[in-house]
Amino acid sequence: MEVRLAECAGFCFGVKRAVDTVYEQLKTGKTIYTYGPIVHNEEVVKELEEKGVKVIHDFSELKDLIQSEQSAAVIIRAHGVPRAVYEQIEKCGMECVDATCPFVKRIHNIVEKESREGKHILVVGNPGHPEVEGIVGWCQGPVTVLETPEDVLAYEPLPDEKLCIVSQTTYNYNKFQYIVEIFRKKGYNDSVVNTICSATEERQLSAQRLAKEADVMIVIGGKHSSNTRKLYEICSRECANTYFIQTLDDLHLELPKAFRLVGITAGASTPNKLIEEVQNYVRINF
Ligand code: SF4
Repeated sequence: MEVRLAECAGFCFGVKRAVDTVYEQLKTGKTIYTYGPIVHNEEVVKELEEKGVKVIHDFSELKDLIQSEQSAAVIIRAHGVPRAVYEQIEKCGMECVDATCPFVKRIHNIVEKESREGKHILVVGNPGHPEVEGIVGWCQGPVTVLETPEDVLAYEPLPDEKLCIVSQTTYNYNKFQYIVEIFRKKGYNDSVVNTICSATEERQLSAQRLAKEADVMIVIGGKHSSNTRKLYEICSRECANTYFIQTLDDLHLELPKAFRLVGITAGASTPNKLIEEVQNYVRINF
């Protein structure tokens, strides 16, 4: 049985950069906090916690800390945070180390500028995702999050309103094209900036190509990782035997002899170590 890894899988540029930043900061000897989990992968977060990195979740935790900490740094995660969080960290007098992925930062800059100029910002993405919450938190005026083509069809702007449309970096590329087409047909006064990250698109396309050929697809990633869930969605459409696992422990495979190709892909927050473990396991056991 052949085991093949998708051409693009695992840590993307932004996630690697954020995780490297945490390791760099650990060398300074300061107490290191990350604002939210640094990436959406429990294994990575657990490993960092073992090295003393603490995760804070909201302003109130930050305020409590300032009473006790003298030498501490707060690292902003790869997905970014609302502008108010930076202000809060500064107010608390703590050092802020920004590991926001430059592709996400680009969206912050666009929405801040365009909303200052009076445009209504439309963010195509999942409203509950931290990246989208971060983007919304950089808008200086009206902002609406649209998750699905149905939301877009139902959306009616105010008369004469100028719109600026951006997308969550991990949004499905084809779905976004479809949404742009809906806007084009409605004839609104809009400007569209495709802010889907190429790492996401490359992962999606190479996962799709592999899933078309594979008898079984294994998608590895954190359960809260939106890009991993999208990979799972894409692979499931092409391959009926698609499995979503977080670690090797979740994998319970029974593979019929007639199966020839096992494909593996992984979300952008999945470390190489995990991917190799799964690859080796399948190679040895089947
Ligand atoms: Fe940055 Fe893209 Fe990775 Fe998100 S998927 S962290 S935008 S490189």
